Amino acid sequence: MVVTIIGIGLIGGSLALSLKETGLAHHIIGVDQSPENLRQAVALGLLDEPSSDLAEAVGRADLVVVAVPMDAMLTVLPQVLDAATDRQVVFDVGSTKALLLARVADHPNRRRFVAVHPMAGTEYSGPEAAVPGLFRGKTLVVCDAQASAPDAVARVEAVFGRLAMRLVYMDAQAHDLHTAYVSHISHITSFALALTVLKKEQSDQQIFALASGGFESTVRLAKSSPDMWVPIFRQNRDNVLDVLDEHLRQLRHLRELLATGDDAGMYEQIQQANLIKKILK
Ligand code: NAP
Repeated sequence: MVVTIIGIGLIGGSLALSLKETGLAHHIIGVDQSPENLRQAVALGLLDEPSSDLAEAVGRADLVVVAVPMDAMLTVLPQVLDAATDRQVVFDVGSTKALLLARVADHPNRRRFVAVHPMAGTEYSGPEAAVPGLFRGKTLVVCDAQASAPDAVARVEAVFGRLAMRLVYMDAQAHDLHTAYVSHISHITSFALALTVLKKEQSDQQIFALASGGFESTVRLAKSSPDMWVPIFRQNRDNVLDVLDEHLRQLRHLRELLATGDDAGMYEQIQQANLIKKILK
């Protein structure tokens, strides 16, 4: 299969590795706004061929992957669909869905497009961040599958099945709501925690010397790029605001228990929080 990947960063690059490793792709064409990223992607063996002609690269592909940040996604996906025919299947890997799907709802080639979100990633960006086997054993959310042609959905299911992903199906609104809870809020809290510690702890050396596993794991996501996250927060604003309000209520409650010396209350709240163990073993 010939695959064209538009946006050859962490996710596009990791997909390239997995598609090659499984033998699904015999030729991968890459398109990217960054000539340097394209050059690196070729040097790293992620791509067989760089291209600066989006329409031509789409036309030569069996499968087209759109893996650009969410603000660019809103303009790049319609351009890809403009260039697609019934021969191609197009999928995105974007982290928010409702606005994007509304944007292409009336496109004549909408049925060649399948909206998916691999729940896999790291805090790093660019082709050098590509990871072999990134998707194995992880969940893939397929959104509004009924709006795509059955053969397009079947091809995407076959690809991600070969990458050993677990497929779940939901509509775009439900996807955006649930990802606000499980992904977007974790990033906001991690950014806030990093800002808090950087403000209170003036010495980089002290942070470096004392940072333990707990701090590192909670603050890891704060290394993520603003180019990635500002558009995600903007496109999922209402859901993120809703979950952020609840989070602030929880923080204020914990603060109150601490300020009033209510150890029993604090103990009970931590016991409640421990119930997460039942979900995340
Ligand atoms: P990334 O590492 O920054 O890669 C994105 C690539 O797209 C970069 O090379 C970027 O170039 C390029 N690009 C930006 N605008 C473009 C345009 N208009 N046309 C062509 N190329 C363009 O980002 P990523 O982490 O792979 O994320 C890609 C998508 O996957 C996003 O939609 C994100 O929401 C989704 N996603 C991310 C994760 C994660 O953990 N990161 C997980 C699941 C899904 P520049 O470097 O010049 O900007």
